[in-house]
Amino acid sequence: MLIVMKFGGTSVGSVPALEKLVEIVKTGRQQGHSLVVVVSAMSGVTDMLLNAAHRAEAGDEETAHTARAAITQKHAEATLHFLGDTPERTAVLAQINSLLDEFELLCHGIRVLGELTPRALDVIAGMGERISVPQVTAILNRAGVPAQGVAATELIVTDGRFGAAVPLVEATAAKTQAGLRPILGAGKTPVITGFIAATEDGIPTTLGRGGSDYTATILGRALEADEVWIWTDVNGVMTTDPRVVPEAHPIAHLSYAEISELSFFGAKVLHSQAIRPARRVGMPVRILNTFEPTHPGTLITANAPESNRAVKAVAAIKNMSLVTVEGPGMAGIPGVAGRTFMGVARTDTNVLMISQASSEQSICFVIPSADVGKVVKSLEQELAREIERRDLEPVRWEDEVVVLAIVGAGMKGTPGISGRLFGALGREKINVIAIAQGSSEFNISLVISRSEADRAVRVIHDEFELEKPD
Ligand code: ASP
Ligand code: MG
Repeated sequence: MLIVMKFGGTSVGSVPALEKLVEIVKTGRQQGHSLVVVVSAMSGVTDMLLNAAHRAEAGDEETAHTARAAITQKHAEATLHFLGDTPERTAVLAQINSLLDEFELLCHGIRVLGELTPRALDVIAGMGERISVPQVTAILNRAGVPAQGVAATELIVTDGRFGAAVPLVEATAAKTQAGLRPILGAGKTPVITGFIAATEDGIPTTLGRGGSDYTATILGRALEADEVWIWTDVNGVMTTDPRVVPEAHPIAHLSYAEISELSFFGAKVLHSQAIRPARRVGMPVRILNTFEPTHPGTLITANAPESNRAVKAVAAIKNMSLVTVEGPGMAGIPGVAGRTFMGVARTDTNVLMISQASSEQSICFVIPSADVGKVVKSLEQELAREIERRDLEPVRWEDEVVVLAIVGAGMKGTPGISGRLFGALGREKINVIAIAQGSSEFNISLVISRSEADRAVRVIHDEFELEKPD
């Protein structure tokens, strides 16, 4: 099989993790598979880089120096363990050093200009992956796995939406085939930077935070790979957050539709777009644990096998706000909903959930709390006339709310699920602020107050007996 294997930040973030990575890649090759390896930055590195860039914009270059020292240290330790004091190590450290020179230079420029553009931010954000690749490549070679580093900027072509670029499928397929086939043909394992890409003109972009997952499925689709394996630090997708419910456990099999609902709703397993390329071509994706490689993890395919459980998982997404547009005149004014969401769209904010009652007296929707200020301002402008005429009330919002997503394909056509759900929450006196169910019926979403979120998750996990294995 041709398998694209992605190793996330914690899977390349320490000596023990990198030891596992080597073992996994060796085993895969011994089993006769052709492997393509995608790597993230070592854990914590992307955050340090981004923080330094923002601090530089605010006039502080010191943070960049500290970040450089910390990143250098991480890589010096890892390379010393695997490569010893050898010319290979010296070569890797030289590459890392010149990338970090570039990083400091960029931060200097940002401080002098006092301006951090999205384009510059993407260049800096992607440096962790560019640093990670030579390290992993050298470690694999040293362990007897013929490996070759490749920059994804040479493979994945995107539009110019910095910070969340969208891949261009055909151009990417052509470049990926041309770039990787010869390496695979020579029996080598390409080691590719996750997260980053470039426009048609070669300007660097990123695929959004956590984007290395997306890199893996984009490359998998482009290469017509048999499977994509996402190596992470948990045993697959969990029924819920185990920090909230200790009985939470990994789900053996999910459909593309189910995982899309879950990753959208902040179950931090997969980048929100990552499943799309796989779904388009029906390529199976596995979520596996680097630290327990024999655990079967979660398999994601078009159709998960019939399961007698309707609800498979419950996810809570925090730091959300609920914005309400309402007023007595609303039912009579056409286009209020349209204009409301145009007003939101202009601020480039992602809306997670929308609810309107049929009386048409109010619309409410959920957005990240960080975006509330600009959204409310934009709505006040857009709806100024109606608010002044008292057809609409001033825009209201509530912070500290949580969206709970209850997900499972079996909910479709199974009567009584919402009855059980609301019954259980009611018994525990948990107040539901808003509700939405998509017509796919794979997901019921609720808005509740932050202070009741953990309790609600436990109640739901319990009600649907998610602690029992399939
Ligand atoms: N290093 C990037 C991030 O932290 C991408 C990734 O790890 O997938 O967001
Ligand atoms: Mg991730």
